[in-house]
Amino acid sequence: MSKPVVAIVGRQNVGKSTLLNRLAGRRIAIVEDLPGTTRDRIQVNISWQDTDLLLVDTGGLEAEPQSAIDQGVKEQVQVAIAEADAIIYLVDVRNGVTPYDQEIADILRRAGKPVVVAANKADNAALESRALEFHELGLSGEPLAISAYHGRGTDELLDRVIDLLPSSPPVDTEPEAIKVTIVGRPNVGKSMLLNALLGEERAIVTDTPGTTRDAIDTVFDFQGQSVLVIDTAGIRRRGRWGVGVERYSVIRAQQAIDRADIALLVIDATEPMTAQDMHIAGYIQEAVKGIVLIVNKWDLVADKNVTEWSRSIRNHLKFMPYALVQYTSAKSGQGVDEIMPLVCQVYEERHKRIPTAVVNTVVRQAIAAHHPPSAGSRRLKILYATQADVNPPTFVFFVNDAKLMHFSYRRYLENKLRQSFGFVGTPIRIVLRNRGES
Ligand code: GDP
Ligand code: GDP
Repeated sequence: MSKPVVAIVGRQNVGKSTLLNRLAGRRIAIVEDLPGTTRDRIQVNISWQDTDLLLVDTGGLEAEPQSAIDQGVKEQVQVAIAEADAIIYLVDVRNGVTPYDQEIADILRRAGKPVVVAANKADNAALESRALEFHELGLSGEPLAISAYHGRGTDELLDRVIDLLPSSPPVDTEPEAIKVTIVGRPNVGKSMLLNALLGEERAIVTDTPGTTRDAIDTVFDFQGQSVLVIDTAGIRRRGRWGVGVERYSVIRAQQAIDRADIALLVIDATEPMTAQDMHIAGYIQEAVKGIVLIVNKWDLVADKNVTEWSRSIRNHLKFMPYALVQYTSAKSGQGVDEIMPLVCQVYEERHKRIPTAVVNTVVRQAIAAHHPPSAGSRRLKILYATQADVNPPTFVFFVNDAKLMHFSYRRYLENKLRQSFGFVGTPIRIVLRNRGES
């Protein structure tokens, strides 16, 4: 396979040549150095994180037209884009977004190639914060503030480029398995529930060794979606250990939760909810994993007042109002059929992506309805928000000073995000990033 080509695109004077030289000079491994002064370099081979790249300065934009991109220039850029595996789109943070920048962005968007927007000449923190303006270009990902001249942010730029490169070769086109674990106190019915689940879906594909010593993961197929149940050995064998069982099973459960996307927390309907149940729930939340609460042994409950039960559970699990609850009898099979559809639902919720513009509309409305807190004369300012990741859903808020964020305001923002976007059954992660005063 030939080496990935990374094109640096941008209008004249934004610093393409400076960036090329910076990346070439620092990263060394210039296998092929073109003749002439450094300014004449148009392409270099560089190596970063064990990946070899061919970095190309698309000289196609030298003749910057006054307003619109003329056809000839457009074609050159398009050829450069077509040949590239990833694109560094360089803009000048000092100029803000120009119409010409927008036109190039339109071309890039249509080309559908992975792009990192790099806002160059961000020589100091104040200029750095202005990189956010380039969200306006409507390209995915967060614009990255760099200074090609001073070498600020250029390492991160290369990291981002490497991340964007299509992984080669495409190893596995199979849809990823949903990773599930079954946790709960001893005797609540985990093992029986596992059997009931696997019994429902008879197609057990393989037993694969897990990472924990003598852990066994079981794969089964649920309506075409493969599901990996983590540490089924731990679920089945728990009862055999003597002293220290309790402690060991807690550690084992934590390890299983860490590896899972979604935890099925099983509780016993014949007993009141215990501190240990809540402790496990707390751990699932801390690990930012999805949760389905299984109220098992439902067959033994005389008074099946679901409304009353749900209220009591919500009361105990106030800190995770998003949890889905399912009443089951692992013994009779009642309610077991509904577990996997709930798991799939939570999995989808965890993979939901909200466009940046929509996130910001909701955040702006939230701020308008309820202003951020202040400490003394200083008030929290939220400049921008974006969903940076899925599984777990992760939102990044760019703020003037993260220390001004209160727990209660953070929860308010989370509630607003949930009201608009759901994210049922999963915690969401909110990350704050400081972006200087503005
Ligand atoms: P190109 O036309 O896009 O290749 O841009 P050049 O690399 O020739 O740079 C244009 C001008 O911007 C030169 O004067 C550079 O020194 C300057 N420049 C490039 N990068 C930076 C930077 O990070 N900070 C500042 N302050 N100036 C820069
Ligand atoms: P684990 O320790 O959480 O894996 O629990 P087990 O699956 O070993 O079950 C513990 C005990 O509860 C066993 O005697 C099961 O037969 C019983 N049990 C499990 N689930 C149910 C259920 O839904 N209804 C009833 N009546 N008994 C159950």
